[in-house]
Amino acid sequence: MKCADAFRSRTVTAPLVTEIARSLSRPVRIMEVCGTHTMSIFRHGIRSLLPEGITLLSGPGCPVCVTPADHIDAFLAAAERSEVTIATFGDLIRVPGSRGSLAEARSRGARVEIVYSPMDALVLAKKEPERMVLFPAIGFETTAPTIAATILQAERLGIENFVIIAACKTMPQALETLLTDPELRIDGLLCPGHVSAIIGSNAYLPFAERHRLACAVAGFEPADILAGLLSLVRQINAGEPQVENCYTRAVTAEGNTTAQKMIGQVFAPADSPWRGLGTIAGSGLVLRSRYQRFDGMIRLGLSVQPAQEPKGCRCGAILKGRLLPPQCPLYGTACTPLQPVGPCMVSGEGTCSAYYRYSGPTRQS
Ligand code: SF4
Repeated sequence: MKCADAFRSRTVTAPLVTEIARSLSRPVRIMEVCGTHTMSIFRHGIRSLLPEGITLLSGPGCPVCVTPADHIDAFLAAAERSEVTIATFGDLIRVPGSRGSLAEARSRGARVEIVYSPMDALVLAKKEPERMVLFPAIGFETTAPTIAATILQAERLGIENFVIIAACKTMPQALETLLTDPELRIDGLLCPGHVSAIIGSNAYLPFAERHRLACAVAGFEPADILAGLLSLVRQINAGEPQVENCYTRAVTAEGNTTAQKMIGQVFAPADSPWRGLGTIAGSGLVLRSRYQRFDGMIRLGLSVQPAQEPKGCRCGAILKGRLLPPQCPLYGTACTPLQPVGPCMVSGEGTCSAYYRYSGPTRQS
């Protein structure tokens, strides 16, 4: 806690805020693409500290939020099988697909257990060899190594009643797609700290070089985020976009090469559908053929069927940075954290949930 205090102290943050205001010479639009950044920005009131000319947009950085309804439906179809136990991260269970959520399936008798890591799901499979334990493998590069490690462990231990539905996504391809959106018009990118710890800060060089986008890798404490924003404002002012790593205590230029190798050993890149962004080439991770016996879609004979997103929900536009949550007609009325309509209101890292929790239910027309 003492360590975190140093990054929250006004002695450290106030000069950064002053310097951001002093350095800003024109209005700028900055996107953060990490749900943990979104929550930290709201929790610490960082928006209220910034000068008016800075617009912060949230991008597709919440893994639950970018998982489309058709994948949720596939998890539901698995849950409805009497021999299957779903072992899932807690924030997924309330996310609605087109036929309801895993929480609703559980209330109808499906076996849905909350776990804190894929290894917990493997332990469950070992304990209950008569059941098939399925882990819905959602997440980004941050989660993929632990899922890969779990598959390798299942292979080592000869556990055959553990499967996943591979739905992990990779961030650079999604950013590439976002940057081709002419309506987005962002000047700078607050690069995700967790993902960057795995892929390394060099992964953003193409965005600075090819798209002339200022990039700063930042951690999650107020001083980290403000230092990242200051770096971006300075880069934008100077007209010299680059990649600055402001989170050197966790992120290196090359990233975690051991984790990268583990991902590459178990998974192969594939096209993947993102809520709001459509299918993005090479942005997903599927099991390599050697590990297909751990593929729940194959083992349970499931398929992904096209599904309707929740009616009236604007999560797609919010994940693309085109809308702010209060601009959704359902925000704070039909959609609240207690009765969420879309995933961005369900997840603890969702933008709508962050807005509601820290700014209240008022809707803007
Ligand atoms: Fe979807 Fe609710 Fe957010 Fe609207 S407020 S975009 S319905 S999650």
